[in-house]
Amino acid sequence: MPTHSNQTRAAVRCESCDAILVGEITPAGSIRPLGTSEDCVCGDGSFTRLKQPASSP
Ligand SMILES: [Zn+2]
Repeated sequence: MPTHSNQTRAAVRCESCDAILVGEITPAGSIRPLGTSEDCVCGDGSFTRLKQPASSP
């Protein structure tokens, strides 16, 4: 197993087209989507990390 991978996977949303993707959050805090190119299919590379579903009432 690779031990040099400290990236965290999380659901991210494109700020441009609202596409939901699975991305990696690097230790530096940058987000890059997985399974596609570094940019969204819409050509924008701005992603926001979604809030993880916490305890629901
Ligand atoms: Zn997009």
